[in-house]
Amino acid sequence: MANFFIPDDLNQQIYLDANATTPVLPDIAEVVCHTMQVCFGNPSSSHITGIQAKHLLEQTRQKARDVIGATEGDILFTSGATEGIQTAVVSTLIAAKQHGLSNPVLLYGATEHKAVPNTLKHWNQVLNVNAEVLAIPVDKYGILDLQFIAKHAANALMICTMAVNNETGIYQDLAAIEQVIRSKNESVAWMVDCVQALGKTPLALSKTSIDYAPFSGHKLYAPKGIGVLYIRKGSAYTPFIAGGGQESGMRSGTENLPGIAGLNKLFSLLLDQHDETFKPLAQLHGYRKQLHSALVDTFGHLTFNHAFSHSVATTLNFVVDGLTSKEVMDLFDAAGIRVSGGSACSSGASRSFVLDAMGLPSWQSENAIRLSFGPAMTQAEIDFACQKIRSLKPILAANCLVVSDSTTPSQELCALGLTQLRHQAACCWLYVDAKKQAVIIDPIIELIPRIEKMVTTQCLTVLAILDTHKHQERISARCLLASELGNHYQDMPSDELGWPIGQTCISLEGTELQRLATPGHSMDSVSYLLLDKQKQQVSYCFCGDLLLPGGLGNTAIEGGCSRAMANSLLNLNKHMVDSSIVCSGHDYQQCFALNWGVQKASTANLSALLAGELTIAEFASQKYITDQQQQSHTDPLCGYVETLSTASKQVTVKAAKQLLSESTTCLIDTREPYEHGANNVAQLFNMSSEQVINIPLSRMANAIVEQQLDQERCYVLLCRSGNRSRQAANNLTQLGYQHVYNLAGGLALL
Ligand code: PLP
Repeated sequence: MANFFIPDDLNQQIYLDANATTPVLPDIAEVVCHTMQVCFGNPSSSHITGIQAKHLLEQTRQKARDVIGATEGDILFTSGATEGIQTAVVSTLIAAKQHGLSNPVLLYGATEHKAVPNTLKHWNQVLNVNAEVLAIPVDKYGILDLQFIAKHAANALMICTMAVNNETGIYQDLAAIEQVIRSKNESVAWMVDCVQALGKTPLALSKTSIDYAPFSGHKLYAPKGIGVLYIRKGSAYTPFIAGGGQESGMRSGTENLPGIAGLNKLFSLLLDQHDETFKPLAQLHGYRKQLHSALVDTFGHLTFNHAFSHSVATTLNFVVDGLTSKEVMDLFDAAGIRVSGGSACSSGASRSFVLDAMGLPSWQSENAIRLSFGPAMTQAEIDFACQKIRSLKPILAANCLVVSDSTTPSQELCALGLTQLRHQAACCWLYVDAKKQAVIIDPIIELIPRIEKMVTTQCLTVLAILDTHKHQERISARCLLASELGNHYQDMPSDELGWPIGQTCISLEGTELQRLATPGHSMDSVSYLLLDKQKQQVSYCFCGDLLLPGGLGNTAIEGGCSRAMANSLLNLNKHMVDSSIVCSGHDYQQCFALNWGVQKASTANLSALLAGELTIAEFASQKYITDQQQQSHTDPLCGYVETLSTASKQVTVKAAKQLLSESTTCLIDTREPYEHGANNVAQLFNMSSEQVINIPLSRMANAIVEQQLDQERCYVLLCRSGNRSRQAANNLTQLGYQHVYNLAGGLALL
């Protein structure tokens, strides 16, 4: 029986991303090592070492047949499922070149792994097949539209479907699909991607008319770089890799014997009725139930993106109501719980095409979390996973991410001062004073649940919800937010941008918010200035799209006027001091906290205008020209991005530890407080907790104004991967902090 190391302390990680890949089981790793070191022969060699290797190869092939129920047909060893898919597609398309159909189509399930449609499109083009590549739609449960298949099967050169989906675990009724395909087309090539089905559902391929079925070792505890392709007897075949004639000439290249040995052990474990490595289905269902309860206990309400009745037990795909997938992923990762975003299988994607194909609402597609475990998961590991998930509950409550169920809420005020909330590059600002009075500037629809949670958990009274102008690229979220906040919002008659009618300022504890008309980006643009009453200085200027970090907003839109912008900037300058923080409506450059001094220094036409080197007319004509030139930019409505040249100093872990050994050096954790709270950074660096400060990017502006940082002091910045902290280090460097170092690679490389 193969066993994993069972973590005995809560700091250990728990891996819940088995649909992406799995660790190699110790028993499998042992035979892989043995095959690399002892039984390392080349199966093509005629000596005894070679014969032993060949025996292992053929024995594994037979075991593969037994596991997938392939009494007939070919079993080929490949480098993985992607190669298996190429081989199947190329074989089919080469054979189908003489098809004689007037409107040939290639069909694939809309929720298929990208390896399938991309391979079909690629070879369709390269081989000049010129078939129409069509996605078979799915319903809201992710089930393929059989009528669509029935309609197109007669013209199809190939039909590709999958047994189990990698994002949702949803399985298809292969018997029903087969019935439809074969009733319309006896001979069309049918490929079924079985990658996520192995070890989770029984397979009997020779009892079906599936022509090709690719499998991958690394999805089930074998090493990466090894897979199997089943080819039905008589199905078209063209070797995808030619060469020395290995695999009976069907796939050349010296066989990956260590990988094959790994599969051998994996198949033995799957076939052994008495072995307990792979858990029975009932137990896997029990695991899912346990994880489900732990998640609900921790996060409150969840929305599942798949029906448990239509999916394998090892996948849970869900959205935490009111939290973005990024927030949940960051929190999990900080706590050592490895899960993935629902779109993890397509790197860089911000939403899930699988959930989109199922017609789920955007927020579900954008914020999906996939938690998946392998069928060798032990009860102890599941218990540990649930314990780790539940340990997040106090962190969530303390950071206003969930509503506390305590009857006597002792919620610490965690948004005192200014917080920047972002959706993509758009910024919304929440300012809270010591009396829990708040103002919200430029709210964004997508952020409403987050703002609502912050306001309600901290019992804030929102005095005003303001827009800096009528945003042309989105509808205002002011009214919707106001109604969501209920009696936390002090509703007063207000103008179109939310300013209370008849008031010259909004009075807050120690500060007051003033309004200044600053047309330019649009005629109705205003800036809100937060005045520190004691210092009689503007701390923050909420300027909408008048100014963008390191640049000026666009004037080449309806209502925009570069002359008016020049006058607004001159007027604004009368109110600002160099240390006033500019809080824009967009932050494309991830600057977070630029002040008026830096803004002037980095915006040439602004400084020239203020210095009197440009007249209003000259400024206006220059600005007009640059705006016209920027028209082709991806987001011309609000403004454009100029690159600020800043290069913060990057340090290795060793150098960071060296710097931090000085008691005067401070470590700034730039992750969100909920991530910071999930692990003990001071302990990781063997330093006192007084040397550690948590300033997330969203609170950078606040930290600057509250003078939490000292220009003369040495700081090492860190985050999970080194990206956020690099942005923060760049920002501080721009602001003139001299001794700022970023830990390159972040906590991940520690
Ligand atoms: N098909 C499915 C359903 C998968 O989940 C994956 C892996 O993510 C693949 C194909 C590609 O497999 P491999 O990594 O072996 O090329």
